[in-house]
Amino acid sequence: MTRTSLTQLEARDGFIPRHIGPSDAEQAAMLSVLGYQSRAALIDAVVPANIRRKDKLDLGQFFDPLPEQAALAKLKSIASQNKVMKSMIGQGYYGTYTPPVILRNIFENPAWYTAYTPYQPEISQGRLEAILNFQQVITDLTGMGIANASMLDEGTAAAEAMTLIQRVGKSASKVFYVADDVLPQTLEVVQTRALPIGVEVRTIAAADIENLQETCFGVLLQYPGVNGDVRDYRNACEKLHAMGAMVVVAADLLALTVLSPPGEWGADVVVGNSQRFGVPLGFGGPHAGYLATRDDYKRSMAGRLAGVTVDAQGNKAFRLALQTREQHIRREKATSNICTAQVLLAVMASMYAIYHGPKGLEQIARRVHRYTGILAASLQSLGYQLVNDTYFDTLTVITDQAEEIHRIAYENGVNLRRIDARHVGLSLDETTGRDEIALLAKIFGDAAGKQANVDFDSLDSDAQDAFPAALSRTSAYLTHPTFHRYHAEHEMLRYLRSLADKDLALDRTMIPLGSCTMKLNSTSEMIPVTWPEFSNIHPFAPEDQTVGYREMIGQLEAMLCAVTGYAGVSLQPNAGSQGEYAGLLIIKKYHESRGEGHRNICLIPSSAHGTNPASASMVGMQVVVTACDENGNVDLADLKKKAEQHSANLACVMVTYPSTHGVFEEGIKELCEIVHAHGGQVYVDGANMNALVGVAGPGLFGGDVSHLNLHKTFCIPHGGGGPGVGPVAVGAHLVPFLPNQASTGYQRAGENTEQGIGAVSAAPYGSASILPISWMYIAMMGAEGLTAATETAILNANYIARRLAPHYPVLYTGHDGLVAHECIIDLRPLQDKTGISNEDVAKRLMDFGFHAPTMSFPVPGTLMIEPTESESKVELDRFIEAMITIHAEIVKVERGEYDRMDNPLKGAPHTAEVVTADDWKHSYSREVAAFPVPSLRKRKYWPPVGRADNVYGDRNLFCGCAPIEDYE
Ligand SMILES: *Cc1c(COP(=O)(O)O)cnc(C)c1O
Repeated sequence: MTRTSLTQLEARDGFIPRHIGPSDAEQAAMLSVLGYQSRAALIDAVVPANIRRKDKLDLGQFFDPLPEQAALAKLKSIASQNKVMKSMIGQGYYGTYTPPVILRNIFENPAWYTAYTPYQPEISQGRLEAILNFQQVITDLTGMGIANASMLDEGTAAAEAMTLIQRVGKSASKVFYVADDVLPQTLEVVQTRALPIGVEVRTIAAADIENLQETCFGVLLQYPGVNGDVRDYRNACEKLHAMGAMVVVAADLLALTVLSPPGEWGADVVVGNSQRFGVPLGFGGPHAGYLATRDDYKRSMAGRLAGVTVDAQGNKAFRLALQTREQHIRREKATSNICTAQVLLAVMASMYAIYHGPKGLEQIARRVHRYTGILAASLQSLGYQLVNDTYFDTLTVITDQAEEIHRIAYENGVNLRRIDARHVGLSLDETTGRDEIALLAKIFGDAAGKQANVDFDSLDSDAQDAFPAALSRTSAYLTHPTFHRYHAEHEMLRYLRSLADKDLALDRTMIPLGSCTMKLNSTSEMIPVTWPEFSNIHPFAPEDQTVGYREMIGQLEAMLCAVTGYAGVSLQPNAGSQGEYAGLLIIKKYHESRGEGHRNICLIPSSAHGTNPASASMVGMQVVVTACDENGNVDLADLKKKAEQHSANLACVMVTYPSTHGVFEEGIKELCEIVHAHGGQVYVDGANMNALVGVAGPGLFGGDVSHLNLHKTFCIPHGGGGPGVGPVAVGAHLVPFLPNQASTGYQRAGENTEQGIGAVSAAPYGSASILPISWMYIAMMGAEGLTAATETAILNANYIARRLAPHYPVLYTGHDGLVAHECIIDLRPLQDKTGISNEDVAKRLMDFGFHAPTMSFPVPGTLMIEPTESESKVELDRFIEAMITIHAEIVKVERGEYDRMDNPLKGAPHTAEVVTADDWKHSYSREVAAFPVPSLRKRKYWPPVGRADNVYGDRNLFCGCAPIEDYE
């Protein structure tokens, strides 16, 4: 035996074989099924030669993969350049304590963070219940009739509210007023959104709203205002309504526990952010925004909505209601393009409310308010004057020494809000204690050259509620038992566990969702997210405190440029849909900059994801649909014809590559050339980048703009429906138009802010605190690992396609009968013969403990399977076995051995209650129902509910916690 060398022994555990599921031996076995000698040979056959990368992916200093510990150490040293100070900047972002039971059991728990959006309700009851709780928190606190399941942030929620009232309101006006004390970052997002749809945004002094005479379709108010004022808008609302205008109020949830909710004084829509309910600052996100409105407008609301229905046995079941995937149905007529939202953060915020309960929340709010009163008195005793005589937690101090105050504050480790040379702002929060009040008094005292009074007893006895008495909250909230039962940690721990146990996430099974790329979210990637150096940074903290963040972000931007072949990237958009929106705005601005602002036609193939047409219409483009041929490819003849027809006005084409049909179309380069020849730009939807990384780059084969989904290709977990990051990447000619943020002076290094499209998110870097996940992934994979991941994803998909083909036809294939990184299997022939639908197969898979593949997208009646590179052959074979077993059941229906209506497929999923009930009336056995394959005896997931009734749920829409009677 040869002796192992020291160098061999010294080789550190690499991350690549941890991320890539199949071992070398498994890969060889799969390749032999496909008839290829090597993975390279397979890739040569799958990927058209004319789009292949000529050189190796150049990741610069990240070319070589870093072992897990080394990557963590490197990122830690970058993170440690951030300075964690006490941020009292406020302006929509506040200090908060994440209850440790929530931190560990939700935020750091793969059972929650690796789940998918709950489109399959039966395996999503836990997170659906949590979302319903969130909706209940929001409806209660805002005093509105209905609230949705989360928005991307406060800024975009306000923008969605603006378009909502435009849709449902009666006014024909195009004018929207924004009070001058609305958060500046919200105003910016609203302005960005208003411009392309012809809405004129005007600002108005908050104090003058009551006297507004000009016609408008609505106004946006902030409650309390950014300077701290708590204004009584009741008369204003009455007048505005009488004028035919509607009222949107951006409100602070903590303040609403003690202030009269906007729903009680005339708001039509209430929006905001739930960050301060236990979600770390994270340099601006991710946090769950919210949107609540009157019951009448529920069908016009943007975003997702969880609701209650019944299952096949008549038991209560939760599911997504109404517009679930409305972009796929309504496309360019959809109410908004929101797809991925902020579910994980909404779940955290809801659990914070549940853990504290109404009394606990009110105590936090009253404490914050009392401290604010004490501080106000102390500042006044120093001779300072305040701008606002009403407040909840925010004071704006008048001073001619603003710079000096900021300097002293800084020396004491405190960030205050920079307003201008004569005003300093500050906001208190849950984490404020006597020490902080004393420190603030000292800071302002030092600036004034005086000793402040910090005698809490005397100051306290003077402190009164500092908001109008008429705005004192009298109505109860969070009265449902859910908000009273889980205050003991054991109760909370077990509640969280019981919910997680109802759901299928990646910690239990592969989730083969086509187009969604449910790959490994490794623990090393997740760990840095909760490092204080990343999580305790305010988005508007001074630059010298965010050096580490900006270095990490700069490196990630460079990595993504290298991967895509583009020249610049912005990480601001906080979902793929937002990246699309930003990318299309960039194209629009580019045309305008060349005097071709009339170009407004957007060509979109019929196979496109629904967010594409929805985004196009949001930027005011006109969608022209182009056909696909019988092989699933973009019909180039039709595209050419339409490009010619619209040549003078052609703005762009939006194509997904490889296509949503799961094939590498040979004609992609030609497509780009055709569109360019007619003066259009090429938008390549990058959701399928998992088939391209290291192998080809959209910026190299003809694309001008792409969005990426870091929550697909780059390992950010889906969180049960968000968070996500949807960077927009562009060619050199479009770099000047990338998003910026004027209110914070944020712009990409060296860019001219004038040309940028403005802000598309509230925070300059969007959901910054989850960017370390993608950084870690790329750093640990290196060029070689990323390329291997792509190749293995393609291998895994082809292996599944080949093994399933004898049972289920694969709808579209490319060269040599091969698919890209996903495959569509066609259930329609079987359905025609047997009545068994793709939905029946999806539900039956639950009995096997699997999450269904993507249903009916992009082709109705099909299933789209994407295994990703992270699934081992063992797991793929388990899935294949389930699918083949299901096929055999369908054959039994076909042969008449099973009844067409009473069979294991139509009966699926089977709950434990159904299977163990004394009366069993089915023509198939209980054993077949519950244990269709032997391995399930060792490892069985029991769906908690039977098949959810969608029609019932929409007819009897109910979107909150169960009525109190149900708990008795
Ligand atoms: C997922 C997806 C999108 C939308 O991305 P979100 O992050 O969910 O907004 C757009 N296009 C395609 C092809 C997708 O698969």
